[in-house]
Amino acid sequence: MTTLFYARPRPGVVREVERYTHLFEIPPEDTPVPDRLIPLCGVFEFGHGQLELLAILEGVPCFACLQKSPDSVPQIEGGQ
Ligand SMILES: [Zn+2]
Repeated sequence: MTTLFYARPRPGVVREVERYTHLFEIPPEDTPVPDRLIPLCGVFEFGHGQLELLAILEGVPCFACLQKSPDSVPQIEGGQ
């Protein structure tokens, strides 16, 4: 099963309007941690220190990431 986590760029990494909350796949335990983390949408690429991990989905979600997320990912409550 794929495990996902939410993260968004830290302030200053990208422009404030681009600080979407992306979905990332946690690599399987037997693979080395990649140097660069690429969200499901594949549009961005982040180093480890550039991301702010989120326990819950907050901020502005990246729509492309949500579209690619499996059904197991909780949907936004009362989303518009
Ligand atoms: Zn994304």
